[in-house]
Amino acid sequence: MIEIRRQEAEEAVRKLLQYLEGDSDREGLQKTPKRVIDSFDEIFAGYNQESAEVLSSTFNAEGYGGIVLLKDIEFHSTCEHHLQPFRGRAHVAYIPTDRIVGISKLARIVELHARRLQNQERITKSVVDDIVDNLNPLGAGVIIEARHGCMQCRGISKQNAVMTTSAMRGVFFDKAEARSELMQLIGSREL
Ligand SMILES: [Zn+2]
Repeated sequence: MIEIRRQEAEEAVRKLLQYLEGDSDREGLQKTPKRVIDSFDEIFAGYNQESAEVLSSTFNAEGYGGIVLLKDIEFHSTCEHHLQPFRGRAHVAYIPTDRIVGISKLARIVELHARRLQNQERITKSVVDDIVDNLNPLGAGVIIEARHGCMQCRGISKQNAVMTTSAMRGVFFDKAEARSELMQLIGSREL
């Protein structure tokens, strides 16, 4: 069944190539449909992962109640409107109550959402919601800065425009002091 779907997907890519070049069968294009679908299997691997599983192994916070921040998590994603890549970095923070999570899991949650058809706003919201739902923190915050291929290579053609999105929950939403400590820790930097 999966094999049939894959063949159909490769056939669809073949059709796109015909749309671009007509009935060209030059050497460089012969295996392109297979390569495109192989690359899709990686680029869209996030559909095969569950947030709850990624965030399931937690540890005792042992009284630590400060900010945990993983910053500069680089990611690549795909814009669902144009199938163009967008990429940038995510900063993910939370303040634990009693449980902390392995730090690499914060990067994995970003990957899980980035490796799907996306818009930046949804990645931002999904990551912060996953942290709130699975870790029950005092607060959680996610900031994402990204450059979008669909703006760089088509349409308005802006190469350097950076889009920033943020989602704040708990104390990061309620308390200006907590939010400003977070912003200081993240700092401002070049993409
Ligand atoms: Zn787009």
